[in-house]
Amino acid sequence: MRQIIREAYAKINLGLDVVGRREDGYHLVRMIMQEIGVHDTLTVTAAGVPEGAPLIRLKTDSTEIPIGPDNLVSHAAYIMCEAFDIRDEITIDLQKRIPVAAGLAGGSTDAAAVFMALRDLYAPSVTDGQLQELALPLGADIPYCIAGGTRLSEGIGEKLIRLPDAPQCCLVLVKPPVAVNTGMVYRTLDSLAGYPHPDIDGLIDRIAAGDLTGMADKCGNVLELVTGQLVPVIGQIEQFFMDRGAVCSKMSGSGPSVFAIYQEEEKAAQALREFKETADFSDCYGALTQFVYR
Ligand code: ATP
Repeated sequence: MRQIIREAYAKINLGLDVVGRREDGYHLVRMIMQEIGVHDTLTVTAAGVPEGAPLIRLKTDSTEIPIGPDNLVSHAAYIMCEAFDIRDEITIDLQKRIPVAAGLAGGSTDAAAVFMALRDLYAPSVTDGQLQELALPLGADIPYCIAGGTRLSEGIGEKLIRLPDAPQCCLVLVKPPVAVNTGMVYRTLDSLAGYPHPDIDGLIDRIAAGDLTGMADKCGNVLELVTGQLVPVIGQIEQFFMDRGAVCSKMSGSGPSVFAIYQEEEKAAQALREFKETADFSDCYGALTQFVYR
């Protein structure tokens, strides 16, 4: 029996722009992805079975995600078994801590962790690039989750360019208890005539300069035009943290998670304490975290 334990980190989008659409309907994006400290933990155990048919079992402490073959974790394991002719019993124990359906790539990062764990167990010579190619059809964010750190993600998520590490800061992460339909958000954006785009190249320049407040000025997410209208509490949360010394506060992915960037940890901690004591926000998830680099 062999076992690997992996932490699977969430991401936020410091910047997210939609720049076009492929013929097959996939949106072309330019996203600045940043790994953050909020994470799930996966224990992947492989045991030989006498009659050589792969068997994948998933256990989780979460009641919010599917535990059958619909789970991205099980999908990832099936793809790996198929690709590398794995015929063992694979048990995956998923401790879920990343808020679900939040714009934080929770499912994608779990899947990435399974791709990497099974690579390490069965095919250690496979490169990250090869693993990313194998993973892309399962989810456009999975290649990034294999890479991690600070990256520019283009195309549908398959073109990844390493950026200098985004300047360290203190982050408040909040998720209101609202479900957002990602497909609908993109479709609604398509129906808008003309809209302002975030300055992704400017954001890259500020990151490269290690300029935290400059970076904060350039953070922006085009999907907020849609989700912000549908879920007004997103704007209220952002204002709450801006009023308490954040250098920026934006939505991640298609939402509804919001992050607020602080220069001083004490200010961030104080703002989160006040947030949790505010009746209007009492049903929100809230955590203090930071950027993670690789
Ligand atoms: P992204 O930022 O990549 O759009 P997200 O953070 O918005 O993702 P997820 O937490 O990945 O959303 O959940 C999206 C859907 O995927 C949910 O409906 C959930 O039931 C399903 N799902 C399947 N497997 C998982 C998993 N391992 N963890 C979380 N959600 C999963």
